[in-house]
Order: sequence, then structure tokens, then C-alpha cells
Amino acid sequence: MKCSNCTKKAIIEVKWKRKFYCPKHFSQYFFGQIKKVFESKKYKTTKEKITKETKILVALSGGKDSNVCFYVLKKLGFNVKALHLNLGIGSFSENSLKECQKLGELLKEEILIVDLKKILGFSMEELFKKHQRKSFCKICGAVKRYLFNKFAFENGFDYVATGHNLSDTVAHGLNTLINNYFTGFKNLLPILPSQKEIKLVGRLKPLFFLTDEEIRTFAQIHKIPFLKEKCPYVADFPLVHYFKKWLNSLEEDRPGTIRRLGFAFVELAKVFEEKFEKEKKFTQCKICQYPSATKKCYFCKIISKK
Ligand code: SF4
Ligand code: ZN
Ligand code: ZN
Repeated sequence: MKCSNCTKKAIIEVKWKRKFYCPKHFSQYFFGQIKKVFESKKYKTTKEKITKETKILVALSGGKDSNVCFYVLKKLGFNVKALHLNLGIGSFSENSLKECQKLGELLKEEILIVDLKKILGFSMEELFKKHQRKSFCKICGAVKRYLFNKFAFENGFDYVATGHNLSDTVAHGLNTLINNYFTGFKNLLPILPSQKEIKLVGRLKPLFFLTDEEIRTFAQIHKIPFLKEKCPYVADFPLVHYFKKWLNSLEEDRPGTIRRLGFAFVELAKVFEEKFEKEKKFTQCKICQYPSATKKCYFCKIISKK
């Protein structure tokens, strides 16, 4: 099959556009989808503008999405740094770190590294042992969000960028709907503003309009290193994984469905943002002074467990 824009051989079909692309034209499409997140007013609830001066910290895990995220922001000329948290999950963490370092070499960029054991006194696996009955990903996710936000705040960053993509957003959106957790909708937005008065740094999802398959293809074209191995604790969120599989097969039959659902969730998120704005305000944790909906934040609760 030939590229829809030139005579070269196509390497991917972007079904919602009904187009086939060669590596060059697919990359153009890909960068265009990233710029859309920054340029359109439609997808945010803040008037804050993100410019090439805005300080962005990428939460770099070593996986496909965050590694591609750092690569594209760098290539687009944003003022961006990457931080990797070494979680201390055996060989999985060692290999994640290696993929981050390979990316640093490719981009000729220093990767900032923080070792969980050094700053907290225990690794993620040691923390999991204290919380045997709880969901490991919930704990790990909360610790990572907290530490990335803290590092970003203390070092003057305006946004923390993550590798969340369209497939993740829609699968989490469906999970949010099914659990009647409407206040959680606002987290699906591609840009969330900062609230510096409570030490909350803004959040950014540059890959918001791109699917798993598109990100994987982009990584292959540009030889972006990333870890293929799965975390040994990934068994969590079975419903989200189920939705992802189901959405991918639906997309085969009905191209554009994931995208349309993504747009619908953004609209819902904006409605719920207004509705719950007054009801569910973040304040500061009495212990660490970082954002919390209760007196003691979830991070302080988790790490104080003996
Ligand atoms: Fe943490 Fe879960 Fe990701 Fe493993 S899969 S790194 S436990 S969030
Ligand atoms: Zn082409
Ligand atoms: Zn706290």
C-alpha cells in the first residue's frame, strides 16, 4: 500500500483519517497531534498558555509512552527535563533505568534520577510488603504522583508531563463511569492547571490524541529505546485492561470510535469540573503541606504505616 501523501510505501494506516502514511508523513501527523494539545483552547479549563519558555518536567518511566513523550517535546523545542524515579522493583527497575539512560544518550540530554530508597528509606517493593492487602498499583501510582509533583514544585517547574495516551484515557474514562466516580473525570483532561498556592504543579498529557499503536510505530521509526518487559505487579485494574482490549477491537470495526469517546470524555470532564469545583477542593496536608482532600494526604498515610 502507498502513502496517501506521496509515492512511498505506507507503514501504517491511520484509520480515523482513512489515510495510509510513510514514515515521514506519519511523523508529520504525529507531531501535529501533539501540537493540537498545546494550541487548542477546547481541551483545557485554564487560560494559562504553554509556551517554549514554560518549564516542563517529564515523568520518565522507561516505558514506550513516557520515552516517546520526552523525545517529542525535546524535538519540538520545549523547555523540558526528564526525571526517572528508581522504584526498586528488582530487575524491572534496573532495566527501566537502562532504557531511560539510552534515551538520554540518544537525545544528548541528562536524565535526572531519584532513588526511592535513598529519599524515603525504603523501596517500592518494601513498601508493598507493609500493605499486603492493598492494590499495589494504587499505592505506587500515588507515591509517584506525589514525588513528581514535589520535585517539580521544589525545582520551579510549571507542569509535569506524563505519557498518558488516548487509549488509556478512554479506558480509564469508562472505568470512571462504571464506578460512578464523576469527580475523577477532571483527571482525564489533557491539561490541568497548577495551583501553586497549595503546591500543586500543572499536569500535561502531550500524547492525549494518540493511540497505543501510533506511539509504538513512532518509536520504531525514530528508534526510541523503551522497556518492553512488564512490571511484575501490573495485574491491577483488570477492568481497564479489558476495556483497552475491547476498544481496540471496536476500533478495527468502527475506526474513530476511541477518538470520539476521548472527545466526549473531555466535554464531560469540563462539565464535572464546574459542577464539583466547589464541593471537592484540595487543601494542604497538615503533615507535609502538599495537596490533599483530607487532613492527612494519602502519601503520608501510606508511608507512615509500620
Ligand atoms: Fe507501579 Fe503498577 Fe506501574 Fe508496577 S505496574 S510500576 S506497581 S503503577
Ligand atoms: Zn508519504
Ligand atoms: Zn502529606
